[in-house]
Amino acid sequence: MKPHSPIGAESTDGSLSEGVSAAGFVGLFVNILHLALPLYSIQVYDRVISSGSIDTLVALTGLVALVLTFQAILDYLRARIFTILATRVTTRMGGKVFEAAVESTLRQGAGAAAGSMRDLTDFRNFVAGGLIALPMDLLVAPVMMFVLFLLHPLYGLIGLVGALLLTITAIAIELLARRPAGRAASFGTKVQAETTAAIRNAEAITAMGMLPEVAGRWQRTQTEALTSTEQGRATAKALAVWAKALRLALQIGVIAAGATLVIDREASAGTIIAAAVILSRLLLPFEQLIEGWRHWVDALAILDRLGEVLTQGATTRSAVPVAISSGRLVVDKLSYVPHGMGRPVLRNLSFEMASGELLGVIGPSGAGKSTLARLLVGLWEPTSGGIFLDGQSCFAHERGSFGDAVGYLPQDPMLFDATVRDNIARFRQSSMEDVVAAARIAGVHDLIGTLPHGYETRLTDAGARLSGGQKQRLALARAIFGTPRLIVLDEPNSSLDAEGEAALADAIDELRQRGATLVVVAQRMSILKRADRLLMLKEGAMVQFGGRDDVMALLGPQRPAPAVARPSLASQGRTR
Ligand code: ATP
Repeated sequence: MKPHSPIGAESTDGSLSEGVSAAGFVGLFVNILHLALPLYSIQVYDRVISSGSIDTLVALTGLVALVLTFQAILDYLRARIFTILATRVTTRMGGKVFEAAVESTLRQGAGAAAGSMRDLTDFRNFVAGGLIALPMDLLVAPVMMFVLFLLHPLYGLIGLVGALLLTITAIAIELLARRPAGRAASFGTKVQAETTAAIRNAEAITAMGMLPEVAGRWQRTQTEALTSTEQGRATAKALAVWAKALRLALQIGVIAAGATLVIDREASAGTIIAAAVILSRLLLPFEQLIEGWRHWVDALAILDRLGEVLTQGATTRSAVPVAISSGRLVVDKLSYVPHGMGRPVLRNLSFEMASGELLGVIGPSGAGKSTLARLLVGLWEPTSGGIFLDGQSCFAHERGSFGDAVGYLPQDPMLFDATVRDNIARFRQSSMEDVVAAARIAGVHDLIGTLPHGYETRLTDAGARLSGGQKQRLALARAIFGTPRLIVLDEPNSSLDAEGEAALADAIDELRQRGATLVVVAQRMSILKRADRLLMLKEGAMVQFGGRDDVMALLGPQRPAPAVARPSLASQGRTR
């Protein structure tokens, strides 16, 4: 295990480890109180029956009833400690894990975030179920073993053999079920991913009659998951049945041994029931070990994964907010190689933009335009070189203050299942005037007026009932909300009609007047006509950069997305 477990972060204030210790000690005490029953049976057999004293019986019974009541209260307390701990762990870690999971999605895709949130739920269940205290529960074994040896060494020996055999069974189950359990988990994740993809693509699947194939693919993955689960379960079940039979055999063994000891007058009759009860208490945590071992292995793996997600998300960016006051943008020898890919998607790009300038980014499909847009807004870390807004690194900058200065409209914008107002205001506490101002600039104010509750209309199902163009315009309002100094629009007019395009053009003019720097990935002339500069990418390299008219002239009739490289204008533009 690597040392970056979030349990470590928790234990800085000690709450989780202290809680587990508290529950463990309560458990230890409860288990010791279980000795009341064997002691009671010894007293009844050896003292009450031989003396015939009902008074002694009443006194003993009253005492043991008191102890059992106390024990029940402690048992309840212990269960409460686990539930409270589970809630506390989830509350404390939930926010951090959620943020880190969203960040890790940028590097590893959406599955990573879903996995982290599932991990958190599984860890919560592990704590709430009490198995987290299993190692402390095992501490009671020496106490029980000692009492068995005190009653008679033969009882102790049976207990020792039983504990050893159950431990070996637990190890055998772990070894035999580990591989199928791993396969089942990985196929389970795949089933989840295929289900999500199918739901997301329901329209295309239904329209093109793909459902039988998609369902068949899903079925095959699910069958693999079920087969692996079944294999693991069958082995575990067989060994669990063996463990149960073993425990019964040990119980019978201890009674038979007791009988011979009584016959040989080596022990009193009362010790038979006492030894049987103590043996069952001794073996209980070892039986739990059979089930708990896997849960512990899983929980440690979860902590490892969550720790990795948390440290990855935490270390790379600054935590100190610094206000960005100008839209001066510098791209310096920027190269980017996606994670796990050998080939760069962007190669050695350098250019500068002054505040209020508009850069149009063009190029054939797959040239790296959207990648550049994502790097400009700091989603990904450049492999080499850097991008600086107002002199600050776009990637490393603290996210809150960077977000205040940046607007981003992705190629496929998603809205949230929230009100129009919250969507535009990015969920921030803000005045209605600011929200309306952004909507007006984006030319979407009138459209919002036609919605049932205007700005308070809830976009259920993330705006599923809005048209593509309407969503794009609302997302544009979100991108320009506040006073962004840099606005990056990735194909902002891809779903817009003529009216929408005109509104977008007006918005761009207004934003430039306010001094915002704009980077627009676009294929249509209407937007590019407004650009001060044009950057043409091909296969990740800058093949043209310069003033709009110069680049347009060079591109000739096939503008704005020619696939053929022309003589570079890089030297004519403001390249570095
Ligand atoms: P389009 O105009 O079709 O949107 P684009 O110019 O915006 O294309 P990008 O989306 O930037 O192109 O992709 C450029 C190349 O980088 C593509 O070949 C793509 O497969 C690759 N790419 C981008 N991101 C990643 C990633 N995270 N992992 C692997 N490859 C990536």
